Amino acid sequence: MKQIDGHTRLCGLIGNPVEHTMSPAIHNTLARINGHNLVYVPFHVETGQVRKAVEGAYALNILGLNVTVPYKGEVIGCLKETDEMAGKIGAVNTLVRTEGGYKGYNTDMMGLYRAMGSEGIRLEGEEIIVLGAGGAARAVTFLCAWKKAAKVYLLNRTLEKAEKIAEEVNRACGTACVEPMRTDGHGKIPADRQYLAIQATSVGLYPKVEDAVIQDMAFYEKIHTGYDLIYKPAETKFMRLTRQAGGRAFHGLKMLLYQGVIAYELWNGITVTEDDALTVYGKLREGMEAGHN
Ligand code: NAP
Repeated sequence: MKQIDGHTRLCGLIGNPVEHTMSPAIHNTLARINGHNLVYVPFHVETGQVRKAVEGAYALNILGLNVTVPYKGEVIGCLKETDEMAGKIGAVNTLVRTEGGYKGYNTDMMGLYRAMGSEGIRLEGEEIIVLGAGGAARAVTFLCAWKKAAKVYLLNRTLEKAEKIAEEVNRACGTACVEPMRTDGHGKIPADRQYLAIQATSVGLYPKVEDAVIQDMAFYEKIHTGYDLIYKPAETKFMRLTRQAGGRAFHGLKMLLYQGVIAYELWNGITVTEDDALTVYGKLREGMEAGHN
């Protein structure tokens, strides 16, 4: 984007807070690379103002919006239509302009799936351990069941939250693959095979970089691949312990990248090349190193 003019299209992010976001770096870089006359800005939306924000955005001909905490569930009631997976998850983070209103998608999970695929990680037929039962873990558990994982052990400090998600996901996806457990019961997970583990708690997030939700090495010996949704620090304690036990480990920055790339593709009807995605990834890493996040 060289200059804002009468043809400039607008996209943005609604949430509260939004001031820490790295999304403008993703979308404004993609607009520049692709020569699109498009600008992306964050909008801080106060409690109770989500419907007005979405209707106002539509009236202002805004091309698309991302939605972040705490509005990913509430926004669904303001949409014309919701993509099937996003509807099942009950969380929307991307609004795409259509005739008569916005359509909602969950590009967080589409992005996680693409990020994992780019590292050769599959969910189909896999035995998976998900750590956590907050908003992110709930969506990850849906994604795993949706993609026909063979088994999902859902581990959380508060068992009731894991039980509730397991019940919901099993019912919505017509499966019995999700088994809830208390985190400290991880020893019951069979040790005769290895698992993909997805770390979806907030434990280990900067500045508490020495924390991991499980410290017991016996757990990490069961892990062939550890995927932490946290991306700050770039190597979490969970990742370090996974590597020490001989597994591969990844952080969540590519998930963030691809949720943005997929939103950009939906808004503009294009496919972003892997080279361009990697250019954006470089920008995100620079931003992380400079502390702009
Ligand atoms: P959330 O809803 O607040 O859930 C937090 C989870 O962490 C709960 O399961 C909670 O367990 C657990 N937890 C917190 N403190 C704990 C402790 N001291 N010991 C044991 N468990 C603890 O958060 P969220 O929205 O799901 O996000 C989780 C993480 O995912 C965050 O770190 C976020 O940065 C990351 N994330 C990354 C991306 C990305 O694009 N890469 C996207 C979304 C989220 P209880 O239920 O027992 O409280």
